[in-house]
Amino acid sequence: MILKHKAIGLIIGGGIAAYKSLDLIRRLQDCGAAVHVILTPAAQQFVTKLSAAALSHLPVQSSLFEGEHSEDINHIALVNKLDLIIVAPATANRLASTAAGLAQDFAGALLLAATCPVLFAPAMNPNMWAKPQIQRAIHRLQQDGYAFIGPNSGAMAEKHCEGMGRMSEVPEIVSKTKQLLLPKATPITNQELTSQELKGKKFIVTTGATLEPIDPVRYISNYSSGKQGFAIAEALQKRGASVVVVCGIVSAAAPKHIELVHVTTAAEMLDAVTEQLPADGAIFAAAVCDWRVATAADQKLKKQGETMQLHMVKNPDILQIIATSPGRPKLVVGFAAETENHLVNARAKLHAKQADIIIVNNVAGADSAFNSDYNQISIVEATGEQHLPKLSKQELGQKLTDFIITAYNNL
Ligand code: C5P
Repeated sequence: MILKHKAIGLIIGGGIAAYKSLDLIRRLQDCGAAVHVILTPAAQQFVTKLSAAALSHLPVQSSLFEGEHSEDINHIALVNKLDLIIVAPATANRLASTAAGLAQDFAGALLLAATCPVLFAPAMNPNMWAKPQIQRAIHRLQQDGYAFIGPNSGAMAEKHCEGMGRMSEVPEIVSKTKQLLLPKATPITNQELTSQELKGKKFIVTTGATLEPIDPVRYISNYSSGKQGFAIAEALQKRGASVVVVCGIVSAAAPKHIELVHVTTAAEMLDAVTEQLPADGAIFAAAVCDWRVATAADQKLKKQGETMQLHMVKNPDILQIIATSPGRPKLVVGFAAETENHLVNARAKLHAKQADIIIVNNVAGADSAFNSDYNQISIVEATGEQHLPKLSKQELGQKLTDFIITAYNNL
């Protein structure tokens, strides 16, 4: 929803990764954005104006002195429409010239005239990336408020060449774009803080359901509302923590002071959580779909025959991956939604996922915590367990935060 009706300028620079930017046009459109493509002269050695125009369904700009707006200056007419500009691939030349404030071509003039956020997705040879001139340019651009995604490390287009400089993958760029366009949370005031115990500590909270597409109109998901995660996030923030909620599909309203990163699939949730590291604590309250369709269909699947089989593959276990990673937050808390053998299953999860605490709740029948304002939980740790009465999710958020603070301080 974040990108719906948004106008994105996509400057495609001259590099081999330009082919990925054609896919980026489609993926941004899938999210509801209009994509205005600017092809630099060098980019036209890799992709054509025709293919960019055919995919974007909009005129493609490449020169300062051409186009539809005879009465306006082209780059000014365009920049006034844009909510965000992506530069992908961002070449060494583009980074250096933008840092220097040069407007030598259409893309340069657009960037200089821009008042909207700009996201660079650099791509270049590892030696170029490592050059002090380029690192200086990046540092200066960051200081000037430009956003960056990547580059990643890996194989380059040149034979036998590996290292830092691969352009980020398209879903990573889309996810960062969404993050940059999120409405900003209003900062919490000192009066709204109940204490400062968690001051200086960063917590990541996952919440909501993930949604795994089957085809462009169908998906697999679950009944999670996001309420419990939001309540914990709010309680942690009131105790002084800086909190980021990585938020799947939710029906509950988000607390107004909390920074949100919206994601759809489990894979996106993993990327978003990883991007938020390092952190002091992580609370995994999201109901992540354990499975996804191996390859979601590009077109709507036709109704054929009386049965239908989907080939599913396991999703990454975000909690387990983060809890066993080198960048593990000091405190890792997981949830277990169980319909039977609650405590045995919760304890097994504590070990399997290497969490410090598992909060287990009942999702069976009429007492289900899903979509309810109430929840009844037990807290399971390596050293013991505690059983809480049925409480509102708000009250539980506060009680769990008390517990989390004690557990954090005892680690
Ligand atoms: O294995 P199960 O789904 O019951 O584990 C629940 C816990 O693990 C929750 O904290 C949930 O947020 C987390 N989880 C996850 N990634 C998955 C599955 C579950 O982070 N793919």
